[in-house]
Amino acid sequence: MEKTSTFVSISQYQHLYRNDMKEKINQLLHEISQSVAASVEETEALRIKYLSKKGVIARLFDDFRLVPAEEKKQIGQMLNELKTRAQEHINALRERVQAGAASDAADELDLTRTAYPTRLGTRHPLSLVKQEICDIFARLGFSIADGPEIEDDWHVFSSMNFAEDHPARDMQDTFFIEYRPDVILRTHTSSVQSRVMEKTQPPIRVICPGRTYRNEAISYRAHCFFHQVEALYVDKNVSFADLRQVLLYFAQEMFGPDTKIRLRPSYFPFTEPSAEMDISCNICGGKGCNFCKHTGWVEILGCGMVDPNVLDNCGIDSKVYSGYALGMGIERITNLKYRVKDLRLFSENDLHFLEQFKSVH
Ligand SMILES: [Zn+2]
Repeated sequence: MEKTSTFVSISQYQHLYRNDMKEKINQLLHEISQSVAASVEETEALRIKYLSKKGVIARLFDDFRLVPAEEKKQIGQMLNELKTRAQEHINALRERVQAGAASDAADELDLTRTAYPTRLGTRHPLSLVKQEICDIFARLGFSIADGPEIEDDWHVFSSMNFAEDHPARDMQDTFFIEYRPDVILRTHTSSVQSRVMEKTQPPIRVICPGRTYRNEAISYRAHCFFHQVEALYVDKNVSFADLRQVLLYFAQEMFGPDTKIRLRPSYFPFTEPSAEMDISCNICGGKGCNFCKHTGWVEILGCGMVDPNVLDNCGIDSKVYSGYALGMGIERITNLKYRVKDLRLFSENDLHFLEQFKSVH
C-alpha cells in the first residue's frame, strides 16, 4: 500500500505534465515579450533560441504528443498562440533595429525637405445644402430654431393634429422607446414648430433644420434617419399668396433664376389647404429627361397653411392669427443639386465621395 501511494500512474503523470506545459507556455510568453535586441545579430540569436527547428518552442511541440487527448485542443491553441506571438515580437524587433540603422545612416533631420501638404477636410454635402437653405431663409428674416431629437408624442403627433389612428403613429414608421410609448424619436422636425409656438406669440418666423428618424428598411432610396428643414411663419393676415412668393424665391435662389414652380393639392394633417411643390427640372430645363421621368418637373417639398387646430393646440388664437409652413428633405435637395443617386452614400463616410464636395461656407 505504501508503494502504490508513491507510484505515479500514467494519468497522474499526464496531469502533472499538462500543468507543467501550461506554466511553461505562460512563462515563455512573458519571457519573449520582454526580450530586446540592439542589433540584427541579436534578433537572429533570439530567433534561433525560440523559433529554430531545435528551439524552445519546437521542443514544446515535440512534447505535445504527451498531452492527454481531452487537453490537446486547449494546449494546442496555446502553443500556436505562443509561436505566433514570438514570431511577431522578433519580427518587430528586427524591423526596429533595421529602421534605426537606416536613420543613423541618414541625417537626423533634413531642414531642406518640403513640408507635407496639409490635407484640408471638406464639409459634408448635407451640411453644405442645409447651410444654403438656412442662408436663403435668413435673407427673408427667418431665424433658426432647434429642438430635441428624442421627443414625446404630443410635440411630434398630437399637437400637429395627427388623429389617434393616423398610420404615422404606427410602429412601422416610428421608433418608440420600449416600455415608454410616449417617448419617441422624432419623425419630422414639426415638433420644433410645436415647441416654438408653445413658447412664443406671433409674429413667428423660424426655420427648423434637424435630423429625423423613421423605421424604414435601408436602401438606396430610404434610410432610418434623414434630415429636414421646415419653415413656419405665423402672423396676422398671412395668406397662401405669401407662401407662394416665398416658395418661388427659395426655388430660384437654390436652383437658379430660371426655375419655375408649380403647386399640386396634397394632404398633411398639420396644414389646410396643403400642397406639394415641383420645380422645373434643373437638368433638362423642363424639356423632359430621364431624371424627371420626362415630365419636366421634379417634386421638392410639401407646404400649406397651418391648420387652425395646430395653432390652437399650441396656444395661438387661430381667430386672430394664420400661418404657413413648409418642409423639405435635405437629402432630396442634395440629390437634385449634386445628382447623388444612393442615399446610403451620405452616411458611409467614404472619402472618395465626400472629397468631391468643396466647402463654400
Ligand atoms: Zn428633366
